[in-house]
Amino acid sequence: MARRPTRWPSKSAATSEAAPPARPGRKARADLPFWRAKTLEEMTKAEWESLCDGCGKCCLMKLEDVDTGRVSFTAVACRLLDVGTCRCKRYAERKKLVPDCVQLTPALTRSVDWLPRSCAYRLVAEGKDLFWWHPLKSGDPETVHLAGVSARGRVTSERRGLDLEDRIVSWPK
Ligand code: SF4
Ligand code: SF4
Repeated sequence: MARRPTRWPSKSAATSEAAPPARPGRKARADLPFWRAKTLEEMTKAEWESLCDGCGKCCLMKLEDVDTGRVSFTAVACRLLDVGTCRCKRYAERKKLVPDCVQLTPALTRSVDWLPRSCAYRLVAEGKDLFWWHPLKSGDPETVHLAGVSARGRVTSERRGLDLEDRIVSWPK
């Protein structure tokens, strides 16, 4: 079985290329927080950015089976991920510094099957609510770490000589 290292797997099977889930009526939406009232496409840039829970799991290196497209996460983080805060250290310049870093979009969110099940973008795309520990719900950016759903304390940084095959883990999914 041949596997290639990647930040952004290309062959993953689609989860739900289907249209966004049905939304509540306009009246009901007025009482809902934006992530329940809006589709991913309807969010403002600020709302979109705030939807990221800061778990850091999508920034882990992955191994993609070249034949089947099956994706395995590793406990090795992209070199630009701060493994303490789980945030990108050079977010504004990331595309220049790490060319294979891909900007998540509503369409991409719906077209890959490897985003962690806890990922807020995936949850909204599937018509689900956020978990209690999401900073938008708790009001505290630490709760994603306190709940044990982030990469904090579990990963090492990408560097030369690390064998990703030895670092495969299942918890990020
Ligand atoms: S997996 Fe989703 S919620 Fe977590 S850091 Fe990545 S984009 Fe943000
Ligand atoms: S460049 Fe930044 S946003 Fe992109 S994968 Fe690396 S840490 Fe994540």
